[in-house]
Amino acid sequence: MALDKKTLEEFKELLLKEQKKIEDELKRIAKPVNEEAGDYATTYTNIGDDEDENASEVEEYAGNLAIESSLEKRLVETKEALKRIEDGTYGICENCGKEIPIERLKAYPSAKTCMQC
Ligand SMILES: [Zn+2]
Repeated sequence: MALDKKTLEEFKELLLKEQKKIEDELKRIAKPVNEEAGDYATTYTNIGDDEDENASEVEEYAGNLAIESSLEKRLVETKEALKRIEDGTYGICENCGKEIPIERLKAYPSAKTCMQC
C-alpha cells in the first residue's frame, strides 16, 4: 500500500519542522557555507588570547565540530527525504525497492531503507 496524499503531507510537515530545528541549532554553532546544500562550517569563537582561554576555545570548537557534523548529516537526510516526497519516491526502500513500513517512517521520517536492509 503506497502512502496516501494526506500521510505524505504529514510527513512533509514533520520533515520541514525537523529541517527548521536542525538549521536553528546549526546556526548557533556554525555559519552556512552553502545553505541550499545544507553545508555549514563550525565557527571558532575567540574568547581571549590567554593560554587557558585558547585551550577552552579549542575544546569548544572540537565539541561544536562534532555536533555540527552530526547535525549536518541529519539536515542532509531530511532534505533528501523532502526531495523524495516531491519526486514521489518517499517511503520506498532505496536498496530493495520495497515499501518502508509506516511505523518505521514515523519513528524515523528520513529513513531511506527498510528494516531488513
Ligand atoms: Zn529494503
